[in-house]
Amino acid sequence: MDNDIIDQIRQTVRQLCAQYPGSYWQEKDRERAYPTEFVNALTEAGLLSSLIPEEYGGAGLPLAVASAILEEIHANGCNGAACHAQMYTMGTLLRHGSEEQRKKYLPGIASGELRLQAFGVTEPTAGTDTTSISTTAVRDGDDYVVNGQKVWTSRAEHSDLMILLARTTAKDKIAKRADGLSVFIVDMRETLGKGMTIHPIRTMINHATTAVFFDNMRIPASSLIGEEGKGFRYILTGMNAERILIASECIGDANWFIKTAANYARERSVFGRPIGQNQGIQFPIARAYAEMKAAHLMVKEACRKYDAGEACGAEANMAKMLASEASWAAGEACLQTHGGFGFAEEYDVERKYRETRLYQIAPISTNLILSYLAEHELELPRSY
Ligand SMILES: Cc1cc2nc3c(=O)[nH]c(=O)nc-3n(C[C@H](O)[C@H](O)[C@H](O)COP(=O)(O)OP(=O)(O)OC[C@H]3O[C@@H](n4cnc5c(N)ncnc54)[C@H](O)[C@@H]3O)c2cc1C
Repeated sequence: MDNDIIDQIRQTVRQLCAQYPGSYWQEKDRERAYPTEFVNALTEAGLLSSLIPEEYGGAGLPLAVASAILEEIHANGCNGAACHAQMYTMGTLLRHGSEEQRKKYLPGIASGELRLQAFGVTEPTAGTDTTSISTTAVRDGDDYVVNGQKVWTSRAEHSDLMILLARTTAKDKIAKRADGLSVFIVDMRETLGKGMTIHPIRTMINHATTAVFFDNMRIPASSLIGEEGKGFRYILTGMNAERILIASECIGDANWFIKTAANYARERSVFGRPIGQNQGIQFPIARAYAEMKAAHLMVKEACRKYDAGEACGAEANMAKMLASEASWAAGEACLQTHGGFGFAEEYDVERKYRETRLYQIAPISTNLILSYLAEHELELPRSY
């Protein structure tokens, strides 16, 4: 992809983000409110449909562009978590859905008329062990009947559609543990209040996350994506893109922390000189800068491989781990540099600090990335 085009897109994102300053995010954070105006602006600018192929109304751009968009959003003090899933959740539908399903949903998702940003995978008892989920979808005539519970289904209240992973064959009747799970596209406009209830979860960050309950929820059999029983594999194919894009947000956060810390360190004068003249203040910022740059190289390499159609599981995982750790180190340096003022809401540091911490846990925790690398790259025995 031409670097000039990426630079232009970055410029567009910067201009858009300038209209949503810290005060906007502080208010949303205080009230745990959804940043509807910001999400609408991104949608209208066509930035959320960059990965949808042109034939379905999107821009058909490579992942490197989506990565630049999310990085830039975060580097400019905004937060893409309210809508990043609108970019990539459709990948499951695009890759594994029927042409009829693609035509039915993708143009609406591309225009923003349809929001597909709810991803119902995690369950309270299964946790990281996704193959142990217990929400069931049982075929009954022309329908599936869904029962169970999801947790941490983010943006469910701000989504029309949900990608749902449910068990279609009991765990004791399957040959391999990846079998027996199926993916559905659920039209939440049809099911809300009819077997589906959504309960917001108040969290340390403003993330619009929820618990979703299914009580004999009926969905048409045509909601099934691909073949029954192959859902876990379908979900896995989308995870590399998600990890690379989350890593991009972390790079953006790290940039924001480093820039904010360096600015403050130059301006704040204590003992008659700028605090940034002290190595105790400079070095953590400089180290965070080096860590961010190194992680960014891995994000770029993961994007390059993904866009070339090469296997990139290791790079996507390493990018996500390194970038989430780099953003956390940068957040630490930034908070420490600000002293007491780092705790004041108006500086935005404490909010960004809370927000960036999430990415060492979701969408996949660091331990599970290390387990992946140990098993798949180092040929060590699987530890779980
Ligand atoms: C704000 C937020 C938003 C989220 N949004 C979504 C969403 O939209 N959709 C969705 O489906 N999920 C979502 N999640 C869920 C997220 O993906 C999970 O929280 C995450 O994968 C970790 O799972 P868990 O919380 O069940 O932790 P657990 O699986 O209970 O793990 C707890 C700790 O134990 C460690 N651990 C577990 N097993 C092992 C092992 N074998 N070896 C070493 N360490 C281990 C983990 O690394 C972790 O540190 C969200 C979570 C949060 C907090």
